[in-house]
Formats: sequence, C-alpha cells, structure tokens
Amino acid sequence: MAGLIYSFLRNNEIMSTKNSLELEGGDDVCACCGIAAVDDIQLKICDGGCDLVKYCSDGCQALHEYEHAGACRKRKEELHDKKIFEQPDGSYLGECPICCLPLPIDKRKSTMMVCCCKVICNGCFHANQDRESKDKLKQRCVFCREPLPDKQDEADEYINKRLKKKDPVAMTYMGRMHADEEEYEKALEYYIKAADMGHADALHCLGALYYNGTGVEKDVKKAIPYLEKAAIGGQPGARIILANYEMNCGRERRAVEHIIINANLGCEESLQHVKTSYIRGICSKEDYAAALRGYQAAINEEKSAERQDAEVKRPKVIEGRKKRGLRCSEL
Ligand SMILES: [Zn+2]
Ligand SMILES: [Zn+2]
Ligand SMILES: [Zn+2]
Ligand SMILES: [Zn+2]
Repeated sequence: MAGLIYSFLRNNEIMSTKNSLELEGGDDVCACCGIAAVDDIQLKICDGGCDLVKYCSDGCQALHEYEHAGACRKRKEELHDKKIFEQPDGSYLGECPICCLPLPIDKRKSTMMVCCCKVICNGCFHANQDRESKDKLKQRCVFCREPLPDKQDEADEYINKRLKKKDPVAMTYMGRMHADEEEYEKALEYYIKAADMGHADALHCLGALYYNGTGVEKDVKKAIPYLEKAAIGGQPGARIILANYEMNCGRERRAVEHIIINANLGCEESLQHVKTSYIRGICSKEDYAAALRGYQAAINEEKSAERQDAEVKRPKVIEGRKKRGLRCSEL
C-alpha cells in the first residue's frame, strides 16, 4: 500500500535540491572551510535541521550561517513535509492481538477491554463469547483471561488499575470520558500525559481540542504539531483536521494528499472526500482511482468471517451492555 501516492512531494523533487547543493560543497567536506573528513577530522551534520551540509567545527557552522540560512530552512521544511506525507504502513490501531489482522478504522468494529486495555476486533471478541456461553463458562477477556465486568463499577476498577500502570490507552479513555462530560481541564490532563508518551489517539484528541477551541482557548499553532505527530502515526482523524486546515489556507493539493493517505488506510469518510475533490476538480481521476484501490485493499486486508459474523450480532450485544448499565464502547 505504501508508495501508492506520490504525486506531489516526490523524492526526486527533494533530491534535486540536495544534489545541486552537494555539487557545491560535496558530502564529506566542511561546507565552510572545505576541509575533508579524514582520520582525526570528523564532520558533523548542520544542526539547523537540514541534511545538506556538514561542518568541521561550531565555528565553521557559525561563519557559514548567513550564507546557508535560506537553503537550510527550505530543506528543513521539505524534510518535514516528506515525513508528514509519507503513507504509514497501517493505522495507529495496528493489528488485533488475537487474529493478527489489521484492526478496522471504524472503532465500532472493535472492543477495548477495560481489564488490559487491549483493543480486540469484534470478530475475536464474539467468537470467544460464543464459545464460552456454549461451554457454560464464565465470560473472560479473550486476551488476558480476566473475568468481564458485570457492572460499570467493576469496569471502572479495571481502568483505575491500568491508570496506575500508566497505560496511555486508559489515560486517553479517561480523557474522552471527561471530555464527554465537558470536564475539559481533567480531559486535558489525561490527554497530555498520554500524548507525552506518543500515543497517537491522545495526540489527536489534544490537537482537536486546541484546533477547535473546545474547552480550551483556540490555538491552531499549538494544535498542528500534535495533529501532525498523530497523523504520522496513522491516526486518520488527525489527518482529516489537517486536511481541513490546509483547505482553509488555500492549499488544496496538500489537503487532498492527506485524505488520500487516509483512504489508503481504509477510512471511508476520507474516500468520500477524495471523490468530492475529484468532482470539484481539485484532484485527478487517477488520484481518485488510486485512492479507491488503496481503500479497497485496506478493507480486504481486514476482512474475516468472524468479523462479518460479529457485525450481525453486534446490535444485540450493545443492547445487553446498555441493560447492565455498561458504556457501549468498552467491556
Ligand atoms: Zn570547517
Ligand atoms: Zn542546515
Ligand atoms: Zn481479531
Ligand atoms: Zn483483558
């Protein structure tokens, strides 16, 4: 799937800039004094964030700064974009730990186990439940084998245990609970903790709060780095916001790149956006066709008989959870 979409920030576009500069200085000589890297002379790469030049000393870097600053900044931006617009291998959700198939982007198709905070696909979840009820066994988590909670109190107790173990999934879950109750200060606290651990979902939630100014002061500049980090980690929600941001800035092509990446991860909403972009003439027919293929490939990869079966059973299970007073997203 990776490599399907490279229409705008192509490697060779970036390489051409590098080559022209390399010709000036060469890779293994100090860009300032021209000394070569031999024996006791070690060159270090420019610490301005580019990968264009090397220096023999801080003094040489300082001397060269005035001349190099413009190219350095430009290259830093290019490298940053390259990272952001690279197709992630899969979504931030990864694979179901039981069947090892990619977890669907649609969160309703999997279950977060409160006991271990593992996200299990509904296929594996229901197959296990069916087996246990057939054998008249106590219902347990298919991953860690802890008994499933009967009441919300028990579920909360499990979550608290995971929080003590500093589980970012539990932290993000708590953040969401508080955000739903409009307790944004507490939500922010949990999101920040989990985002600091690099958890893509928390990074998205945090970025979204700042981007929309929900319960915090609206701060787009602050939001973007969180959203970018989440997007690089394969979080499609973050990328949808980034696409929206690019669109508002009048950078349609960048917006389209974001949603194409999402479509390749199996995000249906983004595929619809690509379609609309094609109809409006923002992207080409080839872009749309490639996104459609990418989307279909992602969907095919995550299909299984157990998962299809679970889709049929799901409404009944949700009803059961509600009756027991359990929230619907987890067990
Ligand atoms: Zn030098
Ligand atoms: Zn530089
Ligand atoms: Zn599974
Ligand atoms: Zn468990």
